[in-house]
Amino acid sequence: MASDGDGSTDDDGTTDGDAASSRDGAPTDDAPASLPDETTSMVLTEDGALEPRTFAVPDVSEGGALLEVEMTSVCGTDVGIYGGESHFDTLPLVFGHEVVGRVVAGDDETLDRMGVSVGDRVVPEPYIPCYDCHYCQTGNYHMCEAERAYGVSIPASEPPHLWGGYGEYVYLAPNTKLHVVDEDVPAEAACLGTVVANGVRWILTKGDVDPGDGVAIVGPGAQGLASVVVADEAGADPIVLAGLSDDADRLELGTELGATDTVFVDEDGAADRVRAATGEEGPPVAVVTAPSGAALRLALDVVAPLGTVVLPGFPGEEVEIDADRLVHDEISLLGGRGQALEVERAMGIVERRGDDVASIISHVFPVREAETAIERQLPGEGFDPDIVHAALRPDG
Ligand SMILES: [Zn+2]
Ligand SMILES: [Zn+2]
Repeated sequence: MASDGDGSTDDDGTTDGDAASSRDGAPTDDAPASLPDETTSMVLTEDGALEPRTFAVPDVSEGGALLEVEMTSVCGTDVGIYGGESHFDTLPLVFGHEVVGRVVAGDDETLDRMGVSVGDRVVPEPYIPCYDCHYCQTGNYHMCEAERAYGVSIPASEPPHLWGGYGEYVYLAPNTKLHVVDEDVPAEAACLGTVVANGVRWILTKGDVDPGDGVAIVGPGAQGLASVVVADEAGADPIVLAGLSDDADRLELGTELGATDTVFVDEDGAADRVRAATGEEGPPVAVVTAPSGAALRLALDVVAPLGTVVLPGFPGEEVEIDADRLVHDEISLLGGRGQALEVERAMGIVERRGDDVASIISHVFPVREAETAIERQLPGEGFDPDIVHAALRPDG
């Protein structure tokens, strides 16, 4: 499986010999079971092709840490990159930025800095801050100029290669932010910790939702459903979840998670129905997770005067909006990216609502079948509408 160009196996040398004690830098008596010399990850070698590749398990005794993957979910971003959407030009790439696993090795300084110990069950944040640039220094590390994120922007050709969760191990760079998660949280929920954190950012931080506020969430994918859980936890009421009539099952799941009303956006009078559910003026907050211009226009149409529209879904097109209405009704339109600074708060929600959050994962595949998991989410013959959000487990 070793290959030439992407630096797998051979050229980066493993430390043969007394594995456990030398690799994790911990005293031998609480060292975990010894680590293998090699491991396999699924690598995107070109758009539309994921292949297993074997890499050396990195020696982290001099810096960094090693995560043994328990579960990784398949983000829409992965599906988009696989399908050929613009990306960071970082092939070959190991996908996987929604991950839960266990710290199995790390040097003392790194572990101290991360605030974890070998054996801890953790969720890593996707963004790796550089702590040097203007954005990192102002607390906006999700905008870091270095643009380093697990599973998205660091190529597998860069040592130590294991930069994503589609495999058995992930290398954790020293600046990685980790969050410990309780042992009794289902893996399906824990791996969505950062997705729930997105909801925290959009609903609470950007939307500033208070108990009793009405919220509309347009888009019933994993991001929208996680946002429903966050809105419910915040005491929002009513919570309207809007989606296509093809997404009826997802809307139904949304009601189980806390949505009080659902609306089909492709039926006539959708805006009126959102307003009917949220009171004459419409909801004070609308979050648009669906990547479409129509979804944004609906949100801008229904949001109450003085309200806020949070837009994390890329419309991917120019969208004509009623700018006069923004002025007249003092509507705030806020872009929203990922979950910086919100993951710890999200872990509390994941721990309280583990079974609910886990229900967003509709399918679990062995990681070797990652290609199938993605193909079934791409438009075309193999498309499987039953997949809400898929997750991968190492084959073990
Ligand atoms: Zn994602
Ligand atoms: Zn930075």
